Amino acid sequence: MTILRSGSASDVGRVRAVNEDLALESLTLFAVADGMGGHAGGEVASRTAIDALQQEFTRRPTVEGLIGAVRRANRSVWERSHRDIDLRGMGTTLTAAALVATDEGDRLVLANVGDSRTYRFHGGALTQLSKDHSVAEELFDRGELSAEEAAVHPHRHILTRALGVAPDVDVDVWQVEPEAGDRYLLCSDGLTNEVSTDRITGVLSSAADPQEAAQTLVRMANEHGGNDNVTVVVLDVVVGEDTTPGEAGAARGAVTALPSEGVGTVDEPPPPSLLSRFGSDAAGGVRSMTSRAASASARLGVNRRLTMGVLAFVMMLGALLAGGWGVVRWYVGSSYFVQLRHGQVTIYHGRLGGFLGMEPAVVDRTGIATAAVPPVELQRLDVGVQEPSLAAARQYVRNLRAEEAALQPAPTTTTTAPAAGG
Ligand code: MN
Repeated sequence: MTILRSGSASDVGRVRAVNEDLALESLTLFAVADGMGGHAGGEVASRTAIDALQQEFTRRPTVEGLIGAVRRANRSVWERSHRDIDLRGMGTTLTAAALVATDEGDRLVLANVGDSRTYRFHGGALTQLSKDHSVAEELFDRGELSAEEAAVHPHRHILTRALGVAPDVDVDVWQVEPEAGDRYLLCSDGLTNEVSTDRITGVLSSAADPQEAAQTLVRMANEHGGNDNVTVVVLDVVVGEDTTPGEAGAARGAVTALPSEGVGTVDEPPPPSLLSRFGSDAAGGVRSMTSRAASASARLGVNRRLTMGVLAFVMMLGALLAGGWGVVRWYVGSSYFVQLRHGQVTIYHGRLGGFLGMEPAVVDRTGIATAAVPPVELQRLDVGVQEPSLAAARQYVRNLRAEEAALQPAPTTTTTAPAAGG
């Protein structure tokens, strides 16, 4: 038998106007989601994901059920973002822990997509179990950055995987044996960007109550600057799962990666991604697993992945210079361009030529024919005009219409000619 006790806290921080993070704390399911996107997108994304996760996991409270629930959450956010134009490009991270009964006994199953994190505090030491799906982490994996460099790297905020950006998603999954005295921490990057691992460890060592620990951590993030929304769930294993006599001591509390079953669909292969990680060793010997489909696409396209990675960096650097990391974080999701297609001016969501394997999608066919485009704009529109937001793209189209109207010959008004010789 396993008994858990939990606490959570979430705060908008000191800089942001809205809190797009969301925590979930129920009897057996715990999660943190960090939403992103313009308008109300971030809030809607995290709420949609958490709701779908909970609903689906309640229906099927198993290991496979949790994986399915994360994929359902992804699909829900993705579908919602395509139903409502104001929500286009929204997405969210999701890190979740669920208590599940298996044939071997109770297990904590951890699932992660994005850069929110799950840590285990065990025997006085804090270990990050989840792997960040961020550009800095990718560089670290490739040996191009040290852990210290990655922690402060300007690209650490750029997500390489999130819920809601594609119809399917690779989910990292781990299974841990709940051991009495262990404490789990689920948090958004608003905590880890502000508070050092040492200080987090200090709080987890000293706070007796998980609720107190969660509140203290959120307060510390705000004291350090509170540059982002901050959300924390602390989960204590009060009574752990009994280890059967004779079982090797090493198995106690062992962390095992699970294949995320069924990830990748038959009819809709996931986009080739720079980001799919397979078989790379994380801290503490935790292996992250991704889907067979992703591994296959990765095997087929190593060179392309690297090339796209380089291209992505150049583009992200430009975005960084242009608007800081807040812009960069939404780089993929919040970009639009206007281009001539099939003889008319069309607004697309995405990057010209695609980005990290994500193909642009048509948002609006404006009805402005090529012939109506002012000649000076024709060449640019042929190539495509990148705009930072849908509003900016629409403004550009409005300007086109205005220019077009200005170029039209003055309408012939039906004036009565003075009668000749009247
Ligand atoms: Mn955040």
